[in-house]
Amino acid sequence: MFKYLLVCIILIFSLAGLAFSGDTNIRVVDKPDTEVANDFYVGNRAPLTPSPLIKLPVGAIEPAGWVRRQLELQADGFHGHLTEISQFLKKEGNAWLSPAGEGDHGWEEPAYWLKGFSNCGYILSDERMIKESKIWIEAALASQKEDGWFGPDKGRKGAATGLQGREDLWPNMIMLFCLQDYYDFTGGKDKRVIELMTKYMKYLMTVPEDRFLVGYWPKMRGGDLLYSVYWLYNRTGDKFLLELAEKVHHHTAEWEKDVINWHNVNMSQGFGEAGTFYMQSKNPSHLQAAERNWQKIRDMYGQVPGGMFGGDENCRPGYTGPRQAIETCGMVEMMLSHETLLTISGDVKWADRCEDVAFNSLPAAFTADLKALHYLTAPNMILCDRNNKSPGLQNGGPMLLFDPHDHRCCQHNTGHGWPYYAEHLWLATAGNGLAAALYASSKVTAKVGDGTEVTINEETLYPFDEKISMTITTGKPVRFPLYLRVPGWCKNPELTINKKSLKVNGSGSYIEINRQWSDGDKIQLNLAMKISLRTWKKNQNSVSVDRGPLTYSLKIGEKYVREGGTDDWPAWEIHPTTPWNYGLVLNENKPASSFRVVRNDWPDDNQPFKADAAPIELRAKAKRIPAWQKDHLGLVGKLQLSPAKSSEPTENVTLIPMGCARLRISSFPTIGSGPGAHQWKQPPKIIPATASHCWEADTVAALSDKVLPRSSNDQSIQRMTWWPHKGTAEWVQYDFEKPQKISSAAVYWFDDMGGGGCRIPISWRLLYKEGNIWKEVSNAGSYGVEKDKFNSVRFNPVQTSALRLEVQLQQDFSGGILEWSVDTE
Ligand SMILES: [Zn+2]
Repeated sequence: MFKYLLVCIILIFSLAGLAFSGDTNIRVVDKPDTEVANDFYVGNRAPLTPSPLIKLPVGAIEPAGWVRRQLELQADGFHGHLTEISQFLKKEGNAWLSPAGEGDHGWEEPAYWLKGFSNCGYILSDERMIKESKIWIEAALASQKEDGWFGPDKGRKGAATGLQGREDLWPNMIMLFCLQDYYDFTGGKDKRVIELMTKYMKYLMTVPEDRFLVGYWPKMRGGDLLYSVYWLYNRTGDKFLLELAEKVHHHTAEWEKDVINWHNVNMSQGFGEAGTFYMQSKNPSHLQAAERNWQKIRDMYGQVPGGMFGGDENCRPGYTGPRQAIETCGMVEMMLSHETLLTISGDVKWADRCEDVAFNSLPAAFTADLKALHYLTAPNMILCDRNNKSPGLQNGGPMLLFDPHDHRCCQHNTGHGWPYYAEHLWLATAGNGLAAALYASSKVTAKVGDGTEVTINEETLYPFDEKISMTITTGKPVRFPLYLRVPGWCKNPELTINKKSLKVNGSGSYIEINRQWSDGDKIQLNLAMKISLRTWKKNQNSVSVDRGPLTYSLKIGEKYVREGGTDDWPAWEIHPTTPWNYGLVLNENKPASSFRVVRNDWPDDNQPFKADAAPIELRAKAKRIPAWQKDHLGLVGKLQLSPAKSSEPTENVTLIPMGCARLRISSFPTIGSGPGAHQWKQPPKIIPATASHCWEADTVAALSDKVLPRSSNDQSIQRMTWWPHKGTAEWVQYDFEKPQKISSAAVYWFDDMGGGGCRIPISWRLLYKEGNIWKEVSNAGSYGVEKDKFNSVRFNPVQTSALRLEVQLQQDFSGGILEWSVDTE
């Protein structure tokens, strides 16, 4: 803290002598001063911590440029037409549309969808979307029961949570956001929202402690409910709400203590919960807990570019490289958490982190026309086909296929990513000012200073360009503080006000300009972007290339292949048409000088997030690494240690912003020579195998992947199991490319006693194929069934094209194999 103050004081002094008239005070500050509240917008009410930054009502910000384009594409895309696509939004039988809360469907999906859909409609003033939203809002408002409950009410059982007879508070948490946004959109006129929320919150006070926030999702995501309790308190001042907030925090998973759960969406949504509670507790450790969790997640699973982490449903020990992916829901929830923490703390880092996800990860989760999405996106991914990638990615099924008809939660939920982003471009500040929080072309109209309404028109191609211009329109001169965020990566911003320029030294803070602003005043902010490299020591010394807020990926040729869907809403695979297995050749002493910036024309359609329309590119030198190949699942091969050797020729390659690249390498190996460089090893050759049955999340490729287990209960490596078959006779089989002479084999059993339903089998034996007949090997030693070791068996040599391992599973248990090695000659 002391160090920070010192820096600030020095900065203030260094600015004090600048040639601005006495009217203009410019300072570098870590957040807006909260001494004086904002008189025009609803911030925190005492005793909550004063709000440094306050979200403006929907409609105050009109995004332009590429942000507006994302919203228009979303409105025209799958999300804006999801009622025509998704079975979960069918109106007939939808419990969210029934006054009684009855129906055969209607859980989180309609609320998820409405959150993004309605906000997108409000921002674009899209009549069709506003009208459709109103149907669902009205139904939610009409669904409130005498006791205060609202929404689906099938005996208050969670439709998908198994909360028999207990309140599933989760879907209602989402609908509360929809209602709040709608209320804002009406300019605070539709008081039914306040009435419904108050009555509902009173009902929540009556729910017994042992039934409150129970169930997996509600407990993990209670922070969302907490946010809504404060939202209402700030508008009504009802004291019971502070009591309810304590209750909600008390029953939410204990994110204040640690990263309490490793499901990617829960993490993205929940990691900052204690930061929300901090507004009431005023305990700095609660705000710090959000930062601690953020750091821990990145430290363990986020040693990759793109602002997210590897949680391809859940984070898994051993799966920490850049080919691990994140759910699209995870991205938008992480953005919203960052936006919320920004308004609570005022700290610039949350805006930087939000931009990181928004620019580098989110665009690649959708096709560029926003007509399709996929479930999982990774920093390194070289093929988006429909084939199962589990267990390389945890989730089985076509998770990488761009399909508007699939990916249930993401399909509905991801619509709030861009609208909420647009709604946080500008924020009102304590002291009746305005803050440019996230930079994008936009127009903001808000009350400032003495209550005068001003409009600021912001023009920029940021993050594809460094220059940001602002023009102020005001009916009369008005004094107010304007805060310009200086991202942490920008060391030398340049500020010009009405042609007077100065250099500022305020990286990771705000430039506060307090003066009497007049109509036509102009501001130019230049956020100098420098190329820099990050080295991921925990991921084999791979490197990522950044320039300003953008991270760059190898440009890989993308071929779209139609794979199902409908003619109106097709689904797509994306296949690579150019090589991707490059390591970067860097200038050792000055790595940043290894790249040349190339600017391209701005795309006519205003959509910059396309591989062939990137407005900015980098040129680099690289060599191919022939042994780096796609694995048997179609995933990019795991990284090996850099620097890596390559005797291939040096080539010129193009890098494009990660957000433009749906096929991408953004954590690169580096090329080296001499004793410090490593030879890239060929991956083990997988023996083709089949099984009587293999659980969809497991793989027969595990049998011969040469990954040695640490124990029979090693959950960090891929495996083959017969789950959920229990007590049956089963088999696995190797089919050799040509006949092999075999005289021994060894098997490492999977056994997850304590946590799962797999055990070592009762017995097993080996058979080989002679002609079309299976014969047991002869003179076999004992067929061992011991845990935590290879069970080896020798037998009279056989010459065969196929070897089969037959097992008898224990009664009531399934079983599996971690590794099955055979000695072939
Ligand atoms: Zn999802």
